[in-house]
Amino acid sequence: MTAVRPAAPADLREAPGVAVRLEGLTRRYGSVLALDGLDLEIAGGEFLALLGPSGCGKTTALRAIAGFEVPDAGRVWFDRRDVTGTPPSKRDVGMVFQAYSLFPNMTVAENVAYGLRVRRRDKAERAGRAAELLELVGLADRGGRYPHQLSGGQQQRVALARALAVAPQVLLLDEPLSALDAQVRVQLREEIRRIQLELGTTTVFVTHDQAEALSVADRVGVMREGRLEQVASPDDLYERPATAFVAGFVGTMNRIPAVLGDGDVEFLGVRREVLGATPPPGPAYALVRPEALSVEADPRGAGRVVTRTFSGATTRLAVALPDGVEVRADVPSAGSQGLTPGTSVTVTPAERPALVESSAAD
Ligand code: ADP
Ligand code: MG
Repeated sequence: MTAVRPAAPADLREAPGVAVRLEGLTRRYGSVLALDGLDLEIAGGEFLALLGPSGCGKTTALRAIAGFEVPDAGRVWFDRRDVTGTPPSKRDVGMVFQAYSLFPNMTVAENVAYGLRVRRRDKAERAGRAAELLELVGLADRGGRYPHQLSGGQQQRVALARALAVAPQVLLLDEPLSALDAQVRVQLREEIRRIQLELGTTTVFVTHDQAEALSVADRVGVMREGRLEQVASPDDLYERPATAFVAGFVGTMNRIPAVLGDGDVEFLGVRREVLGATPPPGPAYALVRPEALSVEADPRGAGRVVTRTFSGATTRLAVALPDGVEVRADVPSAGSQGLTPGTSVTVTPAERPALVESSAAD
């Protein structure tokens, strides 16, 4: 959707985002530790993505921010206000769920105005606000329809409009795109980001899809087993993953057998500086992104191309190396036509410091 829309009316911005702070949040369900002392600070107006595998505690964290979940320990702060014991209705949050959360027996406009009705705003205000919000999400002409008359993507736009209608201080999105097909997903995530930037609402977007998290968020928090492994900008997370878990979860990462020396690391027949803290000398893995490997046809090379997958400007090669190691390399498509399966090649890492993981844990 490329149509230029009017800027959000000023009154939609009446409650600019608050800063949210989670302090040592713990939540148990029987023997399951859903949140394990979770600490997180979100700046006012920030768009933060919480990323992690299924079951790592993302929804529980979101519900604790909304107030649907009272933690066993820890505190939730909105600016300087401790809201840990405050019920959801007094927290001023808007929430969008995975899907199918609209009221089926209400029109689109009535759905959007629902929160205002609960707050006993008069009819004219409700209608005006619903119209503004529907305009904002590109559904100005659908106010009289019922949810079942809309596509999945349109329903999620309505859910977003409904969450925003009360001008929430915090917007919480729990995998709002996961039930949609790929193309709609990409469109709608860009739309959500555009609206969020316009309104300046502090937003937490939960997803298990790393591409989604990296593409829309100011910062991404990677969760694992009820805690954050790393919180960083998308660029930092990708270029400087703090742990092997983050490295493996965010983007594609090759794990190449290596030998750690004193301050450098040797792999694929070359030496590179070590990025960050250097583990003690010994066997290790170099963690290298596919775009940081170059591949050249070489009759005496130790590698053999296994597969070649064209994808526009770049081509992904899978290359088998001795000792059963296989790496993925993204090379410019131009000039790589000759690198067909079976071709003997040399693989060389880019001339830059490499991230290493000690193999002592194996
Ligand atoms: P995510 O959203 O990251 O998939 P959740 O926050 O939903 O993870 O769940 C975290 C853990 O807590 C999981 O092991 C899940 O099974 C458990 N859990 C969540 N809600 C409940 C509940 N109401 N009762 C029992 N266990 C729960
Ligand atoms: Mg969840």
